Amino acid sequence: MFYGKNSFDIIVVGGGHAGVEAAYASAKMGRNVLLLTYDVGNLGETSCNPAIGGIGKSNLVKEIDALGGLMGRLSDLSGIQYRVLNSSRGYAVRATRIQIDRKIYKQKTLSILLNIKNICVYSCEVTELIIKNNTVLGVIVNNNDKIFSSITILATGTFLDAKIYISKFYSYGGRINDFCSRNLACFLKHLCPDYGYLKTGTPPRIDSTTVNTKKLFTQESAFLKSGFFSVFRDLYNYNFLPQVKCYLTNTNSVTHKIILDNIHKSALFNDLLKSVGPRYCLSLEDKILKFSSKLEHQIFLELESLSNTVIYPNGLSMSLPIEIQKNVIHSICGMEKAKIICPGYAIKYLFFNPNNLYRTLESKKINNLFFAGQINGTTGYEEAAAQGLVAGINASLKFNFKGKIFNHLKFKRNNSYIGVLIDDLCHKSIEEPYRIFTSRAEYRLFLREDNADYRLTPLGYKLGLISEKKWIFFNKKMDYIKCAYNYFKNKKISKKKIFFLKNIRNKEISIKKLISDYFIEIEKIKFYFKLNKKIESNPYLKEVEILIKYENYLKKQKKEIKKFDIYKNIKIPKNINFSKISGLSKEVIENLNKYKPSCLRQLYKITGITPAAIIIILIFLQKFK
Ligand code: FAD
Repeated sequence: MFYGKNSFDIIVVGGGHAGVEAAYASAKMGRNVLLLTYDVGNLGETSCNPAIGGIGKSNLVKEIDALGGLMGRLSDLSGIQYRVLNSSRGYAVRATRIQIDRKIYKQKTLSILLNIKNICVYSCEVTELIIKNNTVLGVIVNNNDKIFSSITILATGTFLDAKIYISKFYSYGGRINDFCSRNLACFLKHLCPDYGYLKTGTPPRIDSTTVNTKKLFTQESAFLKSGFFSVFRDLYNYNFLPQVKCYLTNTNSVTHKIILDNIHKSALFNDLLKSVGPRYCLSLEDKILKFSSKLEHQIFLELESLSNTVIYPNGLSMSLPIEIQKNVIHSICGMEKAKIICPGYAIKYLFFNPNNLYRTLESKKINNLFFAGQINGTTGYEEAAAQGLVAGINASLKFNFKGKIFNHLKFKRNNSYIGVLIDDLCHKSIEEPYRIFTSRAEYRLFLREDNADYRLTPLGYKLGLISEKKWIFFNKKMDYIKCAYNYFKNKKISKKKIFFLKNIRNKEISIKKLISDYFIEIEKIKFYFKLNKKIESNPYLKEVEILIKYENYLKKQKKEIKKFDIYKNIKIPKNINFSKISGLSKEVIENLNKYKPSCLRQLYKITGITPAAIIIILIFLQKFK
């Protein structure tokens, strides 16, 4: 009996980023939820780098937040270093990245979930599912207790049949010093035989008191200059945390020699080799082998928590023997005397082919069973959280309840990165751990970080995930934006306004500067009457500026998309040599040669083929005739 019950609406297995969002969304939508995980103290654990966001990933976090999910809020609550990536480039590829305090992130996750009446959280191992007539009826836990539920969501991350490797030695666990889910893995392999193994790795952790930071470049937090993740942050009582510096150093020829001399001792050279790792998150061994002409690789030293001295050396993932890891660390500037607190390691784990899922993330084979997170072959906290939210929403929608407006919800490629992620997972083959990128989204100019709430908050409200308080806040914001936008766009176009709009479209000039330089007092007063606020103090001027800047690009993108629709049946000649097409990445060429698509439409189904690559191929084909 769990909390006096042995039956729930929804059971979520796993308290990682996917499980947390799934449980939270289901509970907010009124379902009775039981979240089972090995250790409740580790809810929302960041197994590898202590940071949320980054290119493409930050769009997912903003979308989760816009829909009423948790990850954005948790990151804001625990952020200790803020950055804007790609700040000199357009808004469509700009990204927020927040280095978080790992401990606080976990504490906040636990306290939020414990404060929701209809979620029960419990530490235990799920060993089997109860299945009858191709329908899941609940789970069996390690003391053989049966717990029943209408729906079960599996969010077991890297824990299924997981092996941790340091050189030729291995142990079982989904993270170092953690459990391995072997019984459930064995059960699921029989139930769903379409599975595979993937790998990833993590760097050794260092004691910050043993690093000579005086020798290193520092990077200050861009706190306040960068955006936060949650658009609703003004509604919460936030005590922002003290900000920390991050330190930069590099590998060098000595480091590379140590790696090359000992490469045969790396775990990469035992049976790990048989599985594939994330292409964009390479181990140091891989980087040095693959990019042999590079003389150095940059390392970021990031503090894991304000309450301890653990440093995460971003870029130093390795699985060499511990003695060699020590030598590698000591060869790097600033870390000559650094002490390793925890060794780096590689991990190999089981995943299930997500092509066997509907876009709701429900299994096509077993009714009422959902899969979310790294179990589906993805990598990354944000990708996992987004899937958790999708599974949680769709699991809840399977129930009949008052106010229900949909039977299921399928996110689309043109309304969200969540839609791109789910569509790719369900339709493309998983050749390597799947990571989101802006280049995967053909509608990326529409799917910016800054407009996630315009796109998705109304949907979150309809689903019951956005509270009345948030809804009122959102509508007020939209009124401000509409009013300011209409002021510039819809009124009689004066010569001055034409000049003004032209300048805003020039990306170097900000709307605030133009107003202060060109608006005469009378215009400011007019605006005041419309908005009941001085124009300069409209908190959303930046967003109005982005809307104006993007108008023309969006029109162009719409045209390109239409053009692609016309061309998608174009045949691709058999004798085409894809390596000859300049501008394609190595990954794209590899996959084209492997799958040999016969028409443009098929390109979409191939892993790694981005919309940008499709345009390049289209142009090449037109010349090839
Ligand atoms: P997880 O965070 O793995 O959570 C799974 C949860 O399920 C855990 O709470 C576990 O206790 C629970 N669980 C599992 N089985 C059971 C069971 N049978 N019964 C009860 N509870 C169970 N991502 C990156 O983007 N970049 C990286 O560089 C990177 N490096 C990584 C390095 C390592 C060593 C590891 C382990 C992971 C790394 N990741 C990296 C992946 C990242 O940790 C995951 O993408 C993310 O945590 C996945 O979230 P999730 O919710 O799917 O699963």
